[in-house]
Amino acid sequence: RLVPEDITTLLSMTQPLKLRGYQPWNVFCDAISNMVNNQLLPPDGKGVLVALRPAPGIRIEQALTLCRPNRMGDIVSMSDNRLVMFLSFCRVNDLDTALNHIFPLPTTDIFSNRMVWFEDNQIAAELVQMRMLAPEKLPKPLPETAKMEKVINAEHDGTGWRRIPEPYCLFSDTTGRTS
Ligand code: C2E
Ligand code: C2E
Repeated sequence: RLVPEDITTLLSMTQPLKLRGYQPWNVFCDAISNMVNNQLLPPDGKGVLVALRPAPGIRIEQALTLCRPNRMGDIVSMSDNRLVMFLSFCRVNDLDTALNHIFPLPTTDIFSNRMVWFEDNQIAAELVQMRMLAPEKLPKPLPETAKMEKVINAEHDGTGWRRIPEPYCLFSDTTGRTS
């Protein structure tokens, strides 16, 4: 029997690189599992799995609102006390570069602890641990996280949706004076 959640999971298994950003825990685990078990991808070069524990006073749901992956294949989810990300094809030496692209603040300001896995067998072993977590005990994203996926630049004014105008400057001061 197929229910919508199963279909989402199936799709995530066939096309993990078409996912980006926050994923529910089971979709997240399935996508990583599919990458790690894909024999067509380079051994120990599928990407980096990183778990980040928020600094004291920062809730994990808040940390998620600061996490903005740009690259397709960069996915994130929340375990009971950590933000967990899989950065597809990122090399472990480039992890800081990638995290600087993804978070608007230095990650040391947001997180107090980091764990990293990048070899296939390390990632597979961590996945076994991750799948033991009961999904109903995992935190849910704040509404802000869902809003970030919004592609239409519009807001609801109480009665209807309005596009938000964006100012464009056709000439700067320097290009205006060409004589
Ligand atoms: P994408 O891989 O999904 O990346 C989307 C956007 O994330 C990029 O938009 C860029 O703003 C940011 N991004 C991703 N990876 C990096 C990175 O390693 N360094 C930096 N500085 N930014 C990164 P952009 O540049 O408009 O590229 C759009 C799409 O074009 C990319 O989607 C990718 O499919 C392709 N692309 C662009 N440059 C490259 C490249 O050097 N190599 C490959 N393989 N694909 C590229
Ligand atoms: P860079 O921006 O200094 O990134 C160096 C390396 O950091 C990348 O090597 C990749 O392993 C990792 N990395 C950086 N940002 C991201 C990210 O958002 N997600 C993930 N998963 N990994 C990331 P790579 O892919 O060989 O790219 C080498 C250089 O090529 C990048 O240097 C950047 O200058 C350029 N590049 C690659 N992809 C894109 C792209 O989509 N857009 C743009 N604008 N530049 C790109």
